[in-house]
Amino acid sequence: MQSLDTDILILGSGGAGLFAALHAHKASPDLRITVAVKGLLGKCGCTRMVQGGFNVALAAEDSVERHFMDTIEGGKWLPDQELAWKLVTLAVERIHELENELGCFFDRNPDGTVHQKAFAGQTFDRTVHKGDLTGIEIINRLAEQVWARRIARLEEHRAVELVKTPSGDALAGVLFIDMRSGEYVFVRAKAVLLATGGGPTMYKYHTPSGDKSCDGLAMALRAGLALRDMEMVQFHPTGLLAGSHTRMTGTVLEEGLRGAGGYLLNGARERFMHKYDPRGERATRDIVSRAMFAEMRSGNVTPYGGLYISMGHLGAERVARDFKGMVERCADCGFDLAGGLVEVVPTAHYMMGGVEFGQDCTTALPGLFVAGEDSGGVHGANRLGGNGVANSTVFGAVAGDAMAAWVRDQGLRRPDQPAIEAAVARCETPLKRGRGGAGGLNSVREKLYETMWERVGIVRDAEGLAAARSELAELDAELDSQAIADGNRAFNLTWHDWMNLKSLVSVSRVIAEAALARQDSRGAHFRSDFPEAGPLEQSAFSSARWAGTGLELHMKPVTFSRVRPGESLLKNAA
Ligand SMILES: Cc1cc2nc3c(=O)[nH]c(=O)nc-3n(C[C@H](O)[C@H](O)[C@H](O)COP(=O)(O)OP(=O)(O)OC[C@H]3O[C@@H](n4cnc5c(N)ncnc54)[C@H](O)[C@@H]3O)c2cc1C
Repeated sequence: MQSLDTDILILGSGGAGLFAALHAHKASPDLRITVAVKGLLGKCGCTRMVQGGFNVALAAEDSVERHFMDTIEGGKWLPDQELAWKLVTLAVERIHELENELGCFFDRNPDGTVHQKAFAGQTFDRTVHKGDLTGIEIINRLAEQVWARRIARLEEHRAVELVKTPSGDALAGVLFIDMRSGEYVFVRAKAVLLATGGGPTMYKYHTPSGDKSCDGLAMALRAGLALRDMEMVQFHPTGLLAGSHTRMTGTVLEEGLRGAGGYLLNGARERFMHKYDPRGERATRDIVSRAMFAEMRSGNVTPYGGLYISMGHLGAERVARDFKGMVERCADCGFDLAGGLVEVVPTAHYMMGGVEFGQDCTTALPGLFVAGEDSGGVHGANRLGGNGVANSTVFGAVAGDAMAAWVRDQGLRRPDQPAIEAAVARCETPLKRGRGGAGGLNSVREKLYETMWERVGIVRDAEGLAAARSELAELDAELDSQAIADGNRAFNLTWHDWMNLKSLVSVSRVIAEAALARQDSRGAHFRSDFPEAGPLEQSAFSSARWAGTGLELHMKPVTFSRVRPGESLLKNAA
């Protein structure tokens, strides 16, 4: 097995990973920094896919307090308030850094100020953007800056295990598979950042990129770390619905469409959102997704079984100008977004849950830091559109600074050799069984999609969740009995598919357990058997960890460190 040493090892090259690399390098240019990533640096992950933009309180009439209150109220009082405060305050610093140090061009008003658009669930238009393809601008500039520095890259390297020291008191390094050869590589590091970006790709309709299969969360679970808020899976209301023959189905049509005044229509081409919420199409994602789900359940659907988004009343020319990327995407699938109707369906978009972490991105395992979508606690029960990329860039930079400071008085640690061997044996499970192909895996994937969409999706109840619990356990066992031919291991996508599914099933089990434990309805989590939010003063978040043979799940009280339910930080609030 090839073995490498580095001071700082960063897993993932999204907004979190690349910001961490740049900040750690700026703090200590002599450090050996390595970015290891399942895809190609700059070309993978979801930060690149960001369409709408980045939330930040820049305008004179806006304030970080207002951004904070929107985040807390949107998150249904479950966010960790100190993390949310850090998000809104450092977002200001980060957007200036993106523009002035890293070279991003964002759209501007005629007077030269940065243009900020409306996003649902916010009381002020604060979303900074570059047209409707903001992520490409951010990731391209970040990647160029990383390439220009002495930062090592391990591309097409899949992290498969966080390996501790023999005593288990700290992290020693990470085991990888070099996907280009199929060989194992062990990297020792003084500090490791988990920034693999979660990704709810276990649902039938989903938005994230295919490289995201919850590997980081599955590794954190195996390492004994606690994951919080895992029941909170956000569905974006407007996933493109273009039939099961195209991977375009499920991909997102950005929130700015509803923000700009787009209508949602049922199969009879009637608006329906005001039946569910006075804000209509501009209600938060959870409310709109649930309303759409109810409308679909009533059978009033489009040819592909979803609903429509309609923008034509805003003027086809304006829509074509303001949403160029979206219009082109729809045209590729035969839809006219600017002037006609486009079929849409709610689609799994983002996991609010993730590894419990401190304000400096440390975790309970010394040597392991976390940032971005792998972390939990910033958003609570619901992420505001535009707070995702703010989160990954804000906390990526915090992690970079913190790791650079931390490694100064750390040495490399000896890994637990039997743990490395056990991890290799786990990866080899399907290869040891001899001949086999992808057929069995496709059937597992279809069953996983069905279970998660029907029972652990937009509307949940105890009966469905209990059924999901046993179905997911069966799928895990079914995966362990799969066989994959051990031929050429270079880019053996069937083998990687098996590993993706293993991660997805293990994280799905946590989502189902956390959803069963939360007997109320908050934000993205809706229980038809417990439809009320419950007393906000007694808000608690779920915390789950694997301990020995089973999953331990506790509800822990939220600390209202800055504002209590019913209060506001806004001076002019009642
Ligand atoms: C279509 C779409 C549109 C979005 N639009 C917006 C928006 O307008 N505004 C907003 O705020 N947010 C938006 N988001 C959410 C936003 O993209 C995320 O919140 C954020 O960018 C996540 O950043 P990250 O660095 O945590 O993860 P990512 O950017 O997803 O990066 C994860 C990285 O980890 C790597 N990786 C995964 N597994 C492994 C492994 N096992 N080993 C090594 N590397 C691994 C991946 O290859 C990737 O490089 C959108 C998301 C999607 C999918």
